[in-house]
Amino acid sequence: MIITVLTLFPKIFESPFQESIIKKAVEKGLVSFNIVNIRDFANDVHRTCDDTPYGGGPGMVMKIEPIYKAMEYVNANGIRPKHILLTPQGRLLNEETALRLARNPHLSLMCGRYEGVDERVLSFVDEEISIGDYVLSGGEIPALVLIDAIVRHIPGVLGNEASTSDESLKDGLLEYPQYTRPPQFLDMEVPPVLLSGNHEEIRKWRRKESIKKTILKRSDLMEKFVPTEEDHKFIREIMEDIPG
Ligand code: SAM
Repeated sequence: MIITVLTLFPKIFESPFQESIIKKAVEKGLVSFNIVNIRDFANDVHRTCDDTPYGGGPGMVMKIEPIYKAMEYVNANGIRPKHILLTPQGRLLNEETALRLARNPHLSLMCGRYEGVDERVLSFVDEEISIGDYVLSGGEIPALVLIDAIVRHIPGVLGNEASTSDESLKDGLLEYPQYTRPPQFLDMEVPPVLLSGNHEEIRKWRRKESIKKTILKRSDLMEKFVPTEEDHKFIREIMEDIPG
């Protein structure tokens, strides 16, 4: 998979790509990054990429021409990408979107700055994505969040060390509680079933705890959850245990 990033601040991407999962994914040849400096496509000696907004108002707006030229350059070199604009006005990023986008051979992520991007850019993007209902000063951190969420879903990236199969948000449930050594810390013990070696009992305990956590912390997610007969039994037991 190729991920192109269009940005005015290419250096922001240097360190995150040199660590951990993303670094390994690049080394394994599963993903490659192409960081494009939009400023290289400006057409004046000052390499201007922003200007004052028509109609007045504070701040500056990113100009359309350098962005358009940068996109044309990306379209002309290799597989034509799906163009994504990072914007607080986009659809909220979730795990399903990350999984869907991980199936594209080439994504191009457009990072805005200042007061945002000339609205005409929407004619050239395929999708607008927001990472949350808050406003950041640039699209670079949102692009990194999106990249991290996507790269984990590229087959082979997590290898045997980890897997996305049991993780939170899959099938509308949060992940079950996890513990590691020591078995006792201060007055807190690891649930005995996890030390029992009984795989069937561990499976059942994890499933029930996963449902319980979701009901208690994120009941909104339960809309997507399709319970089995066994899950219905767990739900009844959980509801009986909840005080009030
Ligand atoms: N004035 C714009 C608005 O109200 O929609 C916000 C501009 S923001 C200061 C600058 C850039 O940061 C945006 O163009 C976008 O690329 C990025 N950005 C800020 N918050 C974001 C979010 N929640 N999700 C994705 N991108 C965001």
